[in-house]
Amino acid sequence: MAAAQPWTANTTHFIAGTWTPATTGRTYPNRSPWSGHILGHAAAGDAEDTERAITAAHHAFPTWSRTRPAERQRVFLNAADLLEQRATHVLAALAAETGCGHHFGTVQLDFAVKLLRQAANLAYHPAGELLPSDTDGTQAMAVRKPVGVVAAIAPWNASLTLSGRAITGPLALGNTVVLKPSEEAPYTGGTLWAEILHQAGLPAGALNVITHAPGEAGAVGDTLLASPLVKRLNFTGSTPTGRRLAEKAGRHLKRVVLQLSGQNPLIVAADADLTHAVDAAVYGAFIHQGQVCMCARRIYVERPLADAFTERFAARAARLPTGDPADPATVIGPVINEWALALLDRRVKEAVGLGARVLAGGEPAPPCYPATVLTDVPDEAEIAQSETFGAVVVVETVDSAEEAVARANHTDLGLAASIITGDSRRGLRLAATLEAGIVHINDQPVNDEPQMPFGGVKDSGWGRFGLGFAAEEFCETQWVTVRDE
Ligand code: ADP
Repeated sequence: MAAAQPWTANTTHFIAGTWTPATTGRTYPNRSPWSGHILGHAAAGDAEDTERAITAAHHAFPTWSRTRPAERQRVFLNAADLLEQRATHVLAALAAETGCGHHFGTVQLDFAVKLLRQAANLAYHPAGELLPSDTDGTQAMAVRKPVGVVAAIAPWNASLTLSGRAITGPLALGNTVVLKPSEEAPYTGGTLWAEILHQAGLPAGALNVITHAPGEAGAVGDTLLASPLVKRLNFTGSTPTGRRLAEKAGRHLKRVVLQLSGQNPLIVAADADLTHAVDAAVYGAFIHQGQVCMCARRIYVERPLADAFTERFAARAARLPTGDPADPATVIGPVINEWALALLDRRVKEAVGLGARVLAGGEPAPPCYPATVLTDVPDEAEIAQSETFGAVVVVETVDSAEEAVARANHTDLGLAASIITGDSRRGLRLAATLEAGIVHINDQPVNDEPQMPFGGVKDSGWGRFGLGFAAEEFCETQWVTVRDE
């Protein structure tokens, strides 16, 4: 059995149950976004490495797909225990590698452990159904089968849970997987999962991990999409990258599940409890320094509550502790990299140049971008239209909740939305008119459980994660009939 790698050391690919360097021997430095220190070096993979991983997954498929459900279940239950036992290590690694604070680290860890325990039951997901037929003497069935090799491309922002979600459902259903974590999270989004599942008893080749240097994702992604051995691809990341992948997937007629950007509204109705609304907005806008796809990006407040809400919300935002993610008091840790920090700065300055007013924050404090509240943001500002991945949120006053919904829908994105109201039936009526894959009434938008149908509408994506729903995405249904002889 391959030994576990300490996360501060170099990480390699994991192919066919073996830790293996890039064919070219190349590596790249994995840096802490807070200190800038090099945490280790990761394998800089390419198309050839990716082909090796695909081949390993393909060879492992016949055995893993026929492994008894009890054995598959045992692997996932073991993995959940192992992950729990390593909690301290995992939280430290998330902080070091992705700047993830203690609270969001715990959220990720709890989700991942639950995900594994629920996935264990997916091994017993019904394998099909009997269908009534009009042909006498015929027994018709819909037989659900794993598809084969599933590719998973995951981002850095919730590296543990999003890589976990991308691989666990497909594996539990009997598929084998090639995982490509983000270049920003080769350990917590990749190697760590290989370590845990391998130690838990997953056979060699069922999960393979390929890492790559910054700017070199294309070679890995293109190889995964072009390979006839890869039957499905799931992707979690930004809408521009998802669109590029979907275009290429179309050329290869490959089915993809896409979890993309959000530009999520939080609506505060006039009858909302003010304290609850402010708490929900602070949590929903600034958790993990706003680097979660479900974060509230736009807050629409009905006029009677607008002044009081905006004043309290901006005051709370201005006081949020900013700094070292390893300090449990920190709420706003570092932005993942300099490029992302510069983008936040540019987008805020552009909005201000177009007439927006800054109510809190508004200036970078490298490597952090403090919690920032803007208002009077014109529609043509980039920040009004496109997901801006950081602790920046726009608050606007509206004359009715219906106007809030109309403005909320006035974007190409449709991931999550929240409505805070004292009247939940009205909340339900408004939810029906919101163009979003996920709506929370009287709760903040950053919310997830492994069994829920997670996904967006419009340019926020296609398909649903969520373990029961994964069966639709990562199985093939075969129609079989048997006629009496
Ligand atoms: P984020 O802003 O969350 O990093 P991206 O869409 O850039 O969003 O990245 C999400 C994932 O997509 C990462 O694993 C990244 O390496 C990968 N990625 C980026 N560009 C490509 C590409 N051309 N082909 C395949 N994967 C890509």
